Amino acid sequence: MPYESKIVAGVEITPLCDAVGPMGTRISKPLPEMFPGGSFADDAEWVLHFHCYLLRAEGRTVLVDTGVGGTDSPAAEWAPVPGHLLTELADVGVGPDDVDVVVLTHLHSDHASGCVEAGVPVFPNARHVIQQAELDWVTGPMRQDVVEPLRDSIQVVNGDEGLLPGIRIVHAPGHTPGHQCVEVGDHILTGDALHHPVQLADPTITYVYDEDPEQAVVSRLALLRRAAVIAPGHFSQAFVPVRSTYPVRSI
Ligand SMILES: [Zn+2]
Ligand SMILES: [Zn+2]
Repeated sequence: MPYESKIVAGVEITPLCDAVGPMGTRISKPLPEMFPGGSFADDAEWVLHFHCYLLRAEGRTVLVDTGVGGTDSPAAEWAPVPGHLLTELADVGVGPDDVDVVVLTHLHSDHASGCVEAGVPVFPNARHVIQQAELDWVTGPMRQDVVEPLRDSIQVVNGDEGLLPGIRIVHAPGHTPGHQCVEVGDHILTGDALHHPVQLADPTITYVYDEDPEQAVVSRLALLRRAAVIAPGHFSQAFVPVRSTYPVRSI
C-alpha cells in the first residue's frame, strides 16, 4: 500500500513505493566505496526503496518518476523488477489514462523505465517533462527503449520552470546533466540529488555513480538550503525533514 498522503501548498502528495531491494551485484559495491567519506557500521547494508510520487491539484494528476519498470526493462540487470507502480496508483484510484503529466527527474533506468512497456507509452495521455540537457546526454537502451517511444509526448524544459500552480521544476545537475527536482511549497521531491541518509548528515559526501560529483554537491546544498522537507527517491522514509534535524554545512 502507498504511504500516507499529505497536502502541501494546495497540492496532495502521495508517495508510491515501486520496489524495495538491494542493488544487484553488477553495480553493487561496499557502502564506503559508494559514499567516500561517509561512516557506516561494519554490517551496514543498503536496501534501496524506489519511490515515485503522485501529485494531485486542481483536477490535474502529475506523476514524478516511473520506477524500475517490468521484467525486461533496462533496469532489470541491477534493480528489483518488476516494479509495482501501476498497482500503487490503482490503490489510490488512479489509472494510467488519468495521468496528465509525467515528470522524469532523470533518465536512469530505475526512474524512467516504468513509463514504457513493450515499446508503448504506459501513460498514453501524459506529456513527459524532461530537461534538454538530459535528452542530449542519454544513450543506449534508455534512449532507444524509453525516450524513442515517448518522442511525440515529450515536453522539453531548460532549467527551472513552473509546471502547474504550486508545482515547480528545479534543474539540479550533477547526478546527471539534466537531473531535475520538483518543488511543492517548502517540500522538494529530490529524485537522486540525495541517495542515502548519510548525505543529509553531510551533503558534501559524494556518490560513486554521480556523473559530476562536485556539481552534485553544489546542487544538493542548494536544495537542502531551500527545502523544509525532502521526498527522496531511495530512502525508506517518503518524507524527511531537513532544517530542524540536519545541519547543512557550507563548502
Ligand atoms: Zn539515478
Ligand atoms: Zn535512482
